[in-house]
Amino acid sequence: KQAQYRRLKSRPSISKDGQHVQLLLNSGLFLDLPHLEDSGASGIGLFRTELQFMVAPAFPRIGEQEQLYRKVLESAGGKPVTFRSLDIGGDKVLPYAQSFEEEENPAMGWRAIRIGLDRPGLLRIQVRALLKAAAGRELRLMFPMITDVSEFERAQALVEREKAFLKRVGYEMPETIKLGVMIEVPSLLFQLDELFGKVHFASVGSNDLFAFAFASDRGNSRMAGRYDTLSRPFLRMLKLIQDKAIEHHVPLTLCGEISGKPIEAMALIGLGYRSISMSSSSVGPVKSMLLELDVAKLRTRLLPRLEPGRTQDDIRKMLKAFAEEQG
Ligand code: PEP
Ligand code: MG
Repeated sequence: KQAQYRRLKSRPSISKDGQHVQLLLNSGLFLDLPHLEDSGASGIGLFRTELQFMVAPAFPRIGEQEQLYRKVLESAGGKPVTFRSLDIGGDKVLPYAQSFEEEENPAMGWRAIRIGLDRPGLLRIQVRALLKAAAGRELRLMFPMITDVSEFERAQALVEREKAFLKRVGYEMPETIKLGVMIEVPSLLFQLDELFGKVHFASVGSNDLFAFAFASDRGNSRMAGRYDTLSRPFLRMLKLIQDKAIEHHVPLTLCGEISGKPIEAMALIGLGYRSISMSSSSVGPVKSMLLELDVAKLRTRLLPRLEPGRTQDDIRKMLKAFAEEQG
């Protein structure tokens, strides 16, 4: 199988009926980077910057952050890299960070961009490191756990201030700066028109979005498998986001775990997703599914099942049967 997947590496990622789907990599440490070349992915769709912070004995200095980001951009060799600003708090704790109090519901607590906006020193340093590392290139940066559009605007203003500062002291700037958000808190689904008028791009964090939408802790084994990501409510939710993104011409990716599972990835493509980001070991299996897929046919089977009134359908079962038919 592995050898078979390696042979697919140089094949363009296009469905049997000619739909192009961008396959990207989720990454977070420099060690993963060789996989970008091996897997045949066309870029990094999610670089989790918190991993550097989690393996370090203390807050990484600005120089260390900058060095990592530069190495990542260099080794990507011109392929796009989407960095995500620090997503700590919740289940991602930094043992050396003193100011974190114990919280009753850490997943819904002081985490990610909330910390970044409350303690702008931390976010400012990271943004500065990213701006310097991406000098002369494209910088793509997205913010996690955005819950209200105003939080994106504040983060954007912070980037603008850092840019102005670095320019003033004579640093070369990135050639282009693209700012985006993770869509992973359900409140954003009711702000999509405003949001998509402001961001350059967005990425659905289906792990958290599913957890919050179904009130189902992603780390609790008793909840695992209780609700289905291929169920009507979740698929409708994902379709709504994709439809709005198309309406507003905003490039959209999905970077949760479901991207890396062939049946789930197939469903996403059926809903209209044309860019998905996954771990390196998933690229082969997902690509081999894509090459055999008739997207138009899938849509005629899948989309009617999202219409009202078909509560008896088992969509997962239908998708599995369809996948077997496709080979
Ligand atoms: C997600 O929430 O789907 C996601 C990609 O981010 P993380 O798993 O790091 O929370
Ligand atoms: Mg998340």
